[in-house]
Amino acid sequence: MSLETKKPNLDSVTTINADGSRYAIHPADVKGKFTIMRRVTAAILLIIYIALPWIPINGYPAVFLDIEERRFHLFGITLLTHDLWILFFLIAGLAFALFVLSSVVGRVWCGWYCPYTVFLDHVYRRVERLIEGNSLKRKQLDKSPWNKNKLIKRGSKWFSFLIISLILAHIFLSYFISLPKLWEHMQANPVDHIGEFLFILSFTLVFCFMFGYFREQFCIIMCPYGRFQSSLTDDDTITVAYDYKRGEPRGKKRRIVPELEPAPEPVGDCVDCRRCVNVCPTGIDIRNGIQLECVACSSCIDACNDIMKKLKRPQGLIRYDSVNNIESGERKILRPRTYMYGIFILLGAVAMFYTLKSKARPFYADVARLEGSNYVSNEDGVRNMFSFEIINKKNEAMSFKIEPEASEEIQFTDTGSITIPKGETKKFTMRVFTTKQGYEGAKDVKFNIISSDGSTIILKQRFTGPNQFLYKGTAGQDESLNTNK
Ligand code: SF4
Ligand code: SF4
Repeated sequence: MSLETKKPNLDSVTTINADGSRYAIHPADVKGKFTIMRRVTAAILLIIYIALPWIPINGYPAVFLDIEERRFHLFGITLLTHDLWILFFLIAGLAFALFVLSSVVGRVWCGWYCPYTVFLDHVYRRVERLIEGNSLKRKQLDKSPWNKNKLIKRGSKWFSFLIISLILAHIFLSYFISLPKLWEHMQANPVDHIGEFLFILSFTLVFCFMFGYFREQFCIIMCPYGRFQSSLTDDDTITVAYDYKRGEPRGKKRRIVPELEPAPEPVGDCVDCRRCVNVCPTGIDIRNGIQLECVACSSCIDACNDIMKKLKRPQGLIRYDSVNNIESGERKILRPRTYMYGIFILLGAVAMFYTLKSKARPFYADVARLEGSNYVSNEDGVRNMFSFEIINKKNEAMSFKIEPEASEEIQFTDTGSITIPKGETKKFTMRVFTTKQGYEGAKDVKFNIISSDGSTIILKQRFTGPNQFLYKGTAGQDESLNTNK
């Protein structure tokens, strides 16, 4: 039974055999400074993913996408559904940040920060390693016939995957429903909360499938970001690269007896040990050049450095470097495309900052003309009816003062203050009136909505009425009702 790692090539994907079947990758263990740094990064990210729904900011979890109330709480800012266009800036900003990152350091996001890699490499693969052993043992288990040992190991592994996936699905759900509610639903009959139950069930199965079986296939053939790579990077991009000038021709240096043997062909520093291939989680050979499948995890760097250390040769045969630097010793980190992406990020960040600043108020207020009515005019004057909506976004009750910018001719009724419980919406109407003598035609009126914590929103609405000259010249006319229906 051959346990040799398949020899990767540039014409086919290692994980797919010639007959279309799956070739399972079992990356070998690796030690080194990049592996340690990646593990620490992953641990911090895992803590962040898990903790975000638990950290309260302004009375709500740091990230809480409250589908039921149609409100989105992001680090202390509450967005309503009609504010969601702001997320365009956020998503566009993140996309351009990724573009800059990719143009400078290639697919480093994939290998170091992507949640998919973090869960796959640092949770599921660690558990698999714990149960089934190192890469050699896992390969042996793959090839061995079904027996008691294989049944126990595979059963334990999939049972563990199921439990981890179940926990992850609950953590994922806590981004959408509050923790107390989640806890309450977890203890209730699933039939009473069938939506949440199906969410948990489907995500548990999806996580199990993706992280337990599909694995690196997603990064290689499905991830849209991975497909962008060739257009985002160029020969100046710093990426995981093999120094072929130093490494080739690969092979072991032979000791010879100079008097008896001719001088051997000179060889490079690569001893063709294939350690870099054995540790690669996407099954490629980085010595074949930069490839789309490389997720820049840096395992091959650590693996090769380890070999170089043992051979007492300089480290960095595989390293973070650019193709141009390896070929001609020229390194150019900032290029026109980097500046261009940077300018886009800056513009997006400024737009988002100002938009979020205006949306960061603890309440939302709007005024519209009362549905169906335009204005009422009679001998006494002209009357408009305005409809207000105030949403208290805070996690505590707040009172609001409605202060119209009154003038001599325009008067308001029903002004005053209103208290709105936490998270609730209040709708009310207000009459705006002007006497016939004071009427000067249609004009804008302003309202200051002031919350008990001192925030103010200024609203504007058009006060409408009849043509002032016709109206004032028709004294004694009966009350007329104009509607916009
Ligand atoms: S680990 Fe280094 S020495 Fe070994 S095959 Fe890869 S590049 Fe060559
Ligand atoms: S080639 Fe190296 S950096 Fe790229 S995925 Fe494989 S091990 Fe990771």
